[in-house]
Amino acid sequence: MRKPLVAGNWKMNNPDESSTVLLENILEHAELLEQKLLQDEKSSAIDIAIFPPAVYLKDAQQILTGSHLHWGTQNVSAYDDGPYTGEISASMIKGFGCDYVLIGHSERRCLYDQLDLDQALLDQIVAQKYEMAIEHDLIPIICIGESAEDYKAGKTREVIARLLDVLIEHKGAETLAKTVLAYEPVWAIGTGESATPEWAQEIHAFMRQRIAQHDEASAEAIRIIYGGSVKPDNAQAIFSKPDVDGGLIGGASLDVEEFSQICLAATLLDETACSK
Ligand code: PEP
Repeated sequence: MRKPLVAGNWKMNNPDESSTVLLENILEHAELLEQKLLQDEKSSAIDIAIFPPAVYLKDAQQILTGSHLHWGTQNVSAYDDGPYTGEISASMIKGFGCDYVLIGHSERRCLYDQLDLDQALLDQIVAQKYEMAIEHDLIPIICIGESAEDYKAGKTREVIARLLDVLIEHKGAETLAKTVLAYEPVWAIGTGESATPEWAQEIHAFMRQRIAQHDEASAEAIRIIYGGSVKPDNAQAIFSKPDVDGGLIGGASLDVEEFSQICLAATLLDETACSK
């Protein structure tokens, strides 16, 4: 049985209201949802994790500590504490009470510091960050997905298999069970053009099969969430697919109503999820 996860990535956005107000509102909605679930005897049917910009981590820690919500950072350094200007280490992240960390988001892979590196080298960096997270008892959400160009060229599976193989090479297939994979087709992120539920299912099943070639228990246990233009009107259809274990939500995570509806979509499917 895999517990669905809904993760909200605020990216580098300032919420319309302050970060503290948004966090308080998310918490309030999540607690109402939890109360409803308790009445229905479905307590903690899903995990919810919030990824604000790092400067708001202290707020997240103050507001969310003691609740059933989790929080984390949008990136982690591949190195331990030391002379790495601008980086944040896994131990620092842990110090803010984080449980999760996002790794290898395509906006970092494509747009910023890693721009000129080739994809195979980027996969190695992602794997180093993954190791760092595991060593510091953080749950990595490892983003994995193809560009529009690779999608059109029919290379989705090739791109995904390449990173999966690197991750397995680094720490073995068993350790992967301690992570979350986020299938995020780059062409679907922030574009309003989500993958179809059928496509998401096909690729998630492919990922699971690839892991199963090394370790079946790990393949069965690992949560694979989908990200890319998930909104209240498509969440339920995507989350209902048997190999989709929740979502990584960008734009809609800044709107408390939309985010709550997406969490609800994952929750309502708990019974289905339980039979996965
Ligand atoms: C993301 O940032 O990972 C993401 C999926 O964004 P959006 O939901 O806005 O497409």
